[in-house]
Amino acid sequence: MIESCPNCNSEEVIKSGIIKNRQRYKCKKCSYYFTVNKLGKKIDDYYVNKALQLYLEGLTYREIERILGVSHVSVLNWVKKYNIKRPYSGNYHPTYKILSASELSKYFQNTENLYKSGVLITELGDKFMMIKWERFKD
Ligand SMILES: [Zn+2]
Repeated sequence: MIESCPNCNSEEVIKSGIIKNRQRYKCKKCSYYFTVNKLGKKIDDYYVNKALQLYLEGLTYREIERILGVSHVSVLNWVKKYNIKRPYSGNYHPTYKILSASELSKYFQNTENLYKSGVLITELGDKFMMIKWERFKD
């Protein structure tokens, strides 16, 4: 399914979250945001993957809902459906940030940010999510 930008007709669009059960896109050419046809019960595999990935990283259902815009009930159902089990107890909780590509490169330019920390980056629509096993200082 290729969507095109209603503003400039470009087909260079990327997924940018779900708003009220509708897929939101962002045009890479003109930065215009738009949503398309209702997703109904079938949510894109992209979000199923991301949700399970975040779940495995230790995020709560509510956090995943807030980040991805999919209902925490859906996430709960996917966890059950795919029989996902976290390999650790609930005592551990990572911190995370949503960053743009330029914010991300700035962050990594400062080696102090990387010192003694474990960082994982995952693509999230038009942004990136950084998960870190340490409290964020700022
Ligand atoms: Zn456009």
